[in-house]
Amino acid sequence: MHTNQQWDLIIIGAGPVGLSTAWNYAKNNPDNKVLVLDKYTLLTQLAGTSGEERHWRLQYSELDIFRLTLEADKLWQDLEKQADRKLIHRTGSLWFGDADVWTNEGQITQTMKSMDEMSLPYERLNMATIEQRYGFTHFDPNYEGFLQKDGGVIDVKGTLSTLYSLANDLNVTFQFGENVTAIEPDSEGVSVFSAEQRYRARKVLIASGPGSKALVAQLDIDLALSTYEMACISMLRSQRTGANDPFWFAFQQPIETDSNLFYGFPPNPWSVNGFDRLGTDFEVDPITDTHKPDFRANPQHVDRAIEFARRHMPFLNPDRECFSSSCLAVLPDNPERLFYLDTAKGRCHGGENVVISAGGWAFKFTPLLGQVCADLLNDKTPRWDISALRF
Ligand SMILES: Cc1cc2nc3c(=O)[nH]c(=O)nc-3n(C[C@H](O)[C@H](O)[C@H](O)COP(=O)(O)OP(=O)(O)OC[C@H]3O[C@@H](n4cnc5c(N)ncnc54)[C@H](O)[C@@H]3O)c2cc1C
Repeated sequence: MHTNQQWDLIIIGAGPVGLSTAWNYAKNNPDNKVLVLDKYTLLTQLAGTSGEERHWRLQYSELDIFRLTLEADKLWQDLEKQADRKLIHRTGSLWFGDADVWTNEGQITQTMKSMDEMSLPYERLNMATIEQRYGFTHFDPNYEGFLQKDGGVIDVKGTLSTLYSLANDLNVTFQFGENVTAIEPDSEGVSVFSAEQRYRARKVLIASGPGSKALVAQLDIDLALSTYEMACISMLRSQRTGANDPFWFAFQQPIETDSNLFYGFPPNPWSVNGFDRLGTDFEVDPITDTHKPDFRANPQHVDRAIEFARRHMPFLNPDRECFSSSCLAVLPDNPERLFYLDTAKGRCHGGENVVISAGGWAFKFTPLLGQVCADLLNDKTPRWDISALRF
């Protein structure tokens, strides 16, 4: 087996977390040699970051995570300045539905309490106002919600290409099409193996999205995460322009077959095609060794989204062009855990040389997670309290 030269840092995964770490680490350690390995290509649609957009929100039910989004917000603004382009479009974050139902996004009632406690302004809305203002129909009149105006939508490809360019400018090396099959840490560093190569580094970051759990399992660390193939359905509008309508999330009681949670992105401000995108947030049929992803949206979930659009979104035209895609969501099994990010120190031989990031609705934390990983890889205490992320 061919052995490549020694690196200071190897990052496994060129998703948002890997790219953000590459840039942050290279900025702080200009003399270090950094290598990013990815089994696919930049902007791959086959891992945990596909599509055009992600929801940006400041509000969280959990105060410790809420504080981190406020920090992430400052870092996004710095990144936008650095890149001289807009990455977050603050069109607002609209949550409505059964205010008492707990979901993997939190709960409306608790989140309003948290916004009060954090003095984050929001507009409380009843369902009649929401329907009248945004064109929805036939929701339970007892539903309620709020609009938080600083929320909105993150430009996924803009963010990834920005981080890639910034890291590339700092001489980070990228190797695409390289599937890491094994890692072996020891007290001096870490060996990283693919089918053809053996790499060696002082430190390694595992930021492999749906691939993290299997790599981490080799270190005898069992991350309680499950991966779901979630559907996203694009539909054209028949009425309403919706140029600056907010992102929305509908909180509903689960039904027998699924969690009954839907969210939607109105045509995003940078899109040329004007499609709305409707997502099904259904934690069903986790990917297992026998049940592999097929990277096509589950037809039953597509039908559920179309049925939802027909009933509640008369401004859409699901019978015209309508296409679907899927993406792998990696979520902690424990609903009280939102992410996992920590070093493997004390958990395996050489664990102090390995940092692991896995799981959660993490895109909105991209710049913050990159800085935290870079701190941990430099054996520094992260500059923010990340106890809620550690495992
Ligand atoms: C449908 C959907 C909607 C979402 N909505 C939101 C949202 O609105 N807001 C939000 O904040 N978050 C959201 N998320 C979550 C967010 O997209 C992810 O948390 C984030 O994009 C994951 O980034 P990552 O860098 O951790 O992993 P990924 O983007 O999955 O990147 C991991 C990389 O590692 C590579 N890789 C994997 N295994 C190996 C290996 N063995 N060897 C080499 N390379 C490997 C992959 O090819 C991939 O490029 C959503 C996720 C999904 C699926």
